This record gives sequence, structure tokens and C-alpha cells, in this order.
Amino acid sequence: MLAIHGGSRVRDVPFAPRITMGEAERRAVAEVMESDVLSAYLGGPGDGFLGGPRVREFEERWAAAFGYRHAITTNSWSTGLMTCIGSLALEPGDEMICPPYTMSATATAALFYGVVPVFADVEPETFGLDPASVEKAVTDRTRAIMVVHLFGTPAKMTALLDIARRHDLRVIEDAAQAPLATYDGRPVGGQGDLGGFSLNYHKHIHTGEGGVIVTDDDDLALRCQLIRNHGENIVESHGVEDLANTIGSNYRLTELQAAIGIEQLKRLPGILDARQQLADHLASALAGRPGLDPLVVPPGRRSAYYGFPIRYDEHETGIPRSAFVDAVNAELPPPETADQIALSGGYTRPLYLNPAFQQRVAIGSGGWPFSESQLPDDAYAAGTCPTAEDLYERGLVYTMLAREPLDPSDVDDFVRAVDKVLEHADDLNR
Ligand SMILES: *Cc1c(COP(=O)(O)O)cnc(C)c1O
Repeated sequence: MLAIHGGSRVRDVPFAPRITMGEAERRAVAEVMESDVLSAYLGGPGDGFLGGPRVREFEERWAAAFGYRHAITTNSWSTGLMTCIGSLALEPGDEMICPPYTMSATATAALFYGVVPVFADVEPETFGLDPASVEKAVTDRTRAIMVVHLFGTPAKMTALLDIARRHDLRVIEDAAQAPLATYDGRPVGGQGDLGGFSLNYHKHIHTGEGGVIVTDDDDLALRCQLIRNHGENIVESHGVEDLANTIGSNYRLTELQAAIGIEQLKRLPGILDARQQLADHLASALAGRPGLDPLVVPPGRRSAYYGFPIRYDEHETGIPRSAFVDAVNAELPPPETADQIALSGGYTRPLYLNPAFQQRVAIGSGGWPFSESQLPDDAYAAGTCPTAEDLYERGLVYTMLAREPLDPSDVDDFVRAVDKVLEHADDLNR
């Protein structure tokens, strides 16, 4: 009998918790504490403009590990996204094309600079921007494309960069879920103009909160540094003449966080290898189940496997998605943290369905910056991105169990739970 109907579970022993901080991080933090200098930034001209020794060392190591000229840390990736968009000096009312199937900050970061998101659909295979949909979304107000590498799998960069080149658009990459994922052998993040990564607690590696921008462009790097740290006080000493968006804020990472980040970065290649192994194991263990299509990473790309997505077809399994998700989870030990949830459905509601876009209210109550734009009335209508809506409503489940510190036998228990539920499909439909 299914556990959800009172039968015994496939597994009772809790999954091992994810432990992220070790002795190296504790020692690094203690050293900063002993120095008493928890941040060495100064919001004016001089040496402190770029932060203290650990912030700089972390940025140098990050740039080297990812193969970009510049790495610029921020206090979150949401503020990192704002910084990236600000650095491009777009005008209020300009349009940025992005996917709706992503974390909300991907799109809302633009609104702070008056730039309005226009949503293009995602591909059903990898959940990245669909180049054909992007092409259709281009107008004479389009200035940028925001690419998202969802669940750690690189989007179709060659085709997207080609569209950008033909229409003279800037390209930002939201690689929050894809650190060291590669496309054509190169880490994603700065393959367009600039982009970056999140260091929040849930990401592959973290500093509690934090973000890192990468770019090969010296001018954009400086503009990001200005926005991060009160650029208005620095522009003259740096001889910056184009003042657009150089007023800054305080998006600075502390020395404590940078010290942790230096140690975390050393762990990243091992984390990717562990996830790759578990993902390969899961994909082959799940092969052949009707109605369940595990992610297949296209040739030439390496995923960072933020989560492991599985396409779901309720007509083939014979079980509505929410009943399937609940029944599989009931077969496994109750999660103690969000990272231990065996199966989830849908990921996130397409962003244009959120109230900010439906009502076009973002900054102030008068509709700015939508009021500056020439968006058609139906720009955010339901049905705008059918693939994203279908994935959200029906077509996708994902698991967080293909992650370190779990091992292949944990993944096997997940697959046993899935098989048990599939075998008892009739019980769920009574
Ligand atoms: C986590 C995440 C963000 C936001 O990062 P924070 O560091 O939490 O601000 C943005 N985009 C995507 C795709 C993310 O996964």
C-alpha cells in the first residue's frame, strides 16, 4: 500500500543533511575577527574604493577560476543583477528580453533602472530562452537580452549571441544556478557582455548572502564598481565623463564573507563532480519510465545541476502531477530542510503573471517605468509563454536529491519511491 494511504515507506532513514561550512571557513572567519577589520571599503576616492584584501583576493581567484578578466563581488546576486543592468546605461522605457521561468529578480532588477522586461518563452528540453521566441520579441526598443541558465544547464548561447549581434543588443547572463557550468568548454556568466552568480545559502557555494559579476569588458567592470560603491563620489578621480547610472549605492561584500568565499570556491569543482555523478546515475536509473523524461544535457554543454528537472506527462503516468509529487514524497523520510525535499512540481509561476506585471505597478503608483514604454496592452497576458506556463502547471517536476552529500544509493531509494507510486497509479485515481 502507498505510504500516503497508510502503507509503510520505501525509506525511513533521513537523508544526510547538506553541511556547507567546514574547518577552513571557521579558521578564515576567525582570522578576520582577529584583525577586527570586518570591511575595508571606503565610499570615496582612494584605495578603499575596491574593498579590503579578502574581497580583492576572492575576486582575483574567482576571475581566474572562471576565466574572465574581472570578477566584481556584490552583497547579493539580486543587487548584482541591478548593477549589471545599471552598467549598460540603458534608458527608461527601453526593453529587455528575458524568460519568465526564473527567480523574480531576473526581471525586476531591470525595473529599478526604468527598463521594462519583455518575456520570451523557454525551450522544453533545457528550460533556457528559446531563440525563436526571442527573435519574435525583438522590437525597435529592445536593448538587451537576459539569459538564464536554469537548474544549472546552459541556455543555447550560440543562437542567442547571434540574435544579439544581429540586432545590436547587450547580453546579460543570470548564471545564479550555474557556477562553472560550461558552454562550448567555457564557463557561462560572461559569454555575453556580463553576468554572474549568487552566493546565497541555497546555491552551490555561498557566503550567507552574496553575488559575483564576471566580465571581460574593462569599462563595464568599472561601471559595476561605481554602482556597487557610491560612484557619485569617485567619478571625477577616475575621469569618468559619461555619468549615466554612475550614482551608486552600497552593495559591498564584507571581509568576513569574502574570507568564507575564498574557501568555498575551492570546494566548487568537487561539488560539480559529485552532482554530475549523481545526475548521471539518476538519469539512467529513471530511463524508460513512461511519462517521466529526465533532463538530457545537449552535447557541448556541462550542467551544474542546481536541481534535477524531469519532464512530467500525467497522461502517460495516469496520475495528476500534484498527486504524484505528494505520493512520492510520502514514500521518503520527511524533509528537515528545503534542500531535502525529494520532489517538487512546477518550479515558479511565469513572472508576468505576478501582480507587478499584471497591474504594471513597480516604482511609485503611476505605472513607472511601464508608462515610459511602448509595450502593447497584452504584453503580460496569460498565454504569452505557453511552454513556461505548461511546465509550471503540468509539465515539470524536479528533485533536490541529486546533490552532495548524498550518494547513488540515496538516489536509488528515490527511484524506488517513484516506481512504487507508478505501480499504484490506480490507487491514486480512485
Ligand atoms: C538565487 C537566484 C537569484 C537571486 O540571487 P540572490 O543572491 O538570492 O539575490 C537570481 N536569479 C536566479 C536564477 C537565482 O537562482
